[in-house]
This record gives sequence, structure tokens and C-alpha cells, in this order.
Amino acid sequence: MNRWLRINPIACTGHGLCAEILPELIRLDEWGYPILPSSQVQEHLLPLAKRAVRLCPALALRLDREAK
Ligand code: SF4
Repeated sequence: MNRWLRINPIACTGHGLCAEILPELIRLDEWGYPILPSSQVQEHLLPLAKRAVRLCPALALRLDREAK
């Protein structure tokens, strides 16, 4: 099942924890805010993506079932 990782840039506080958990998908900009070159989550990265969503201290990450 395809999933897409979304970041709420207003809620994000830029601690960068998500990029530590999921460096395969998330990079940080020069201010420490996450950048997603591709938001589609490959099947083998789904457990880490779910972990990043669960641990985001600002509740700024979510997984969508639809591409937008
Ligand atoms: S873990 Fe959450 S608050 Fe921290 S940089 Fe990632 S999305 Fe933003």
C-alpha cells in the first residue's frame, strides 16, 4: 500500500528528529527544517516513517494514503 509523508510547516518546530529517524526520506535545510525531496514512502521505509510520525514532538508529521 502506498503512503505519502506530509509535513505541516506551521506546526513543525525544526528540531530535526524526523531526519534522524528517516534520513533516507527527510533532509534538513540550513535552519534545521525538514525537506522531503520525495514524499512517497517505500514499503521498506514504512515502519521508520510511522516511527517518525509517532515521535514528532510537534505532531507535524502525518502519513497519507493518497498522493496530492
Ligand atoms: S520531528 Fe517534527 S517538529 Fe521536528 S523537524 Fe521533524 S516534523 Fe518538524
